[in-house]
Amino acid sequence: MEKIPSDIKAFVNTSPWWRTSFPTEVVCSGDGVGDLIKRVKSESRRPFYVLDSSLRDQEAFIPLFGRTPAFIFDASASEPRTEDVDRLVDLIGSETGQPDLIVAAGGGSTMDLAKAAAICTANPGPSSGYQGYDMELNKGLDIWVVPTLNGTGAEITPIAVLRGPEKKLGINNKYVGPAVAFIDPQLSAGARRYNRFFTLMDCYFHHYEITKSKTSSGEALADASKGLTLARDPLSQKIDGYDDAKAIKAAMASVLGGSSSIGGRVGAAHALSYGLSNSSPTLPHSVAVTISMLALEDIYPDGYADTLKFLESNEMHVPRASDYGIGEKDIEKMTKTALGMEKLWQSCFGVNWREKATPDFVRSAYIKITGK
Ligand SMILES: [Zn+2]
Repeated sequence: MEKIPSDIKAFVNTSPWWRTSFPTEVVCSGDGVGDLIKRVKSESRRPFYVLDSSLRDQEAFIPLFGRTPAFIFDASASEPRTEDVDRLVDLIGSETGQPDLIVAAGGGSTMDLAKAAAICTANPGPSSGYQGYDMELNKGLDIWVVPTLNGTGAEITPIAVLRGPEKKLGINNKYVGPAVAFIDPQLSAGARRYNRFFTLMDCYFHHYEITKSKTSSGEALADASKGLTLARDPLSQKIDGYDDAKAIKAAMASVLGGSSSIGGRVGAAHALSYGLSNSSPTLPHSVAVTISMLALEDIYPDGYADTLKFLESNEMHVPRASDYGIGEKDIEKMTKTALGMEKLWQSCFGVNWREKATPDFVRSAYIKITGK
């Protein structure tokens, strides 16, 4: 791999480090908020801001708070709900200034909320009707993002994950992808240790599962293997204190998480995680995948060992399903949900996946998960 920049000055001049092409313009910046504001002005845009409430007390974001119109989102729940999206769409629609752009500053949930609202401004809604794949939808407002947590890949992907009245499912549509992403690794400095750690863990799992996938494209495999190296390094050290070198690696791994997901597909740990998520609305996605990976030692031995190592080096306790109220009573329902993730099992096991991902196999994984 080419040299990884260790300071922000070098990062700003980093040429594209991904192989998969994607339509989002990536702006590497040492002053992400300032560059965003300059660009809004120079293009005479009429932005509507969607800001994560946890940024309010951080100095770097002072220039954004106080700008109007804006919606301040409490992103402490694991995913935005479709009703949050519908409420935001109403707010944007009632703006007399007719916004032509949504700017999101925050982590994956805040970006997903803004992405979903942007497309819904041009479609009658409600947003829960658009959860799914490749529907014919009109293009909504442009989306610019300023990620403040690295690892979600949401700054690149044409997906907005939402928790709806019936299911947790993304709006998957090309018009949901951000037009511009301002990547400034320093903006993650104020993130909580727990969020920083588990978000990068999910990034690691994405890269790991794609590198093991039997159905992913060559470009996706190349991006994932680079992303895996980049994510592994900061996770192996203590991730709590901020430093430029670690934050740059995490930011680069995150963009690769977005690019590798275009031609790549995750596998068994994600398949199991969806069963867990469906059984507990408070269980964060990244924690669900961690719990799942720890039940898959036989399939993913090095992923299992890495996961334990990362938890240990960061002094995180090993998460358990029971911490989130998941137990034996949920096993049958979770088994059914996970077995429905056919493409993920195919990605993991290849053409003969049905012989391996049997109801017994999946059930025994959940017995292991709930028995701990
Ligand atoms: Zn994930």
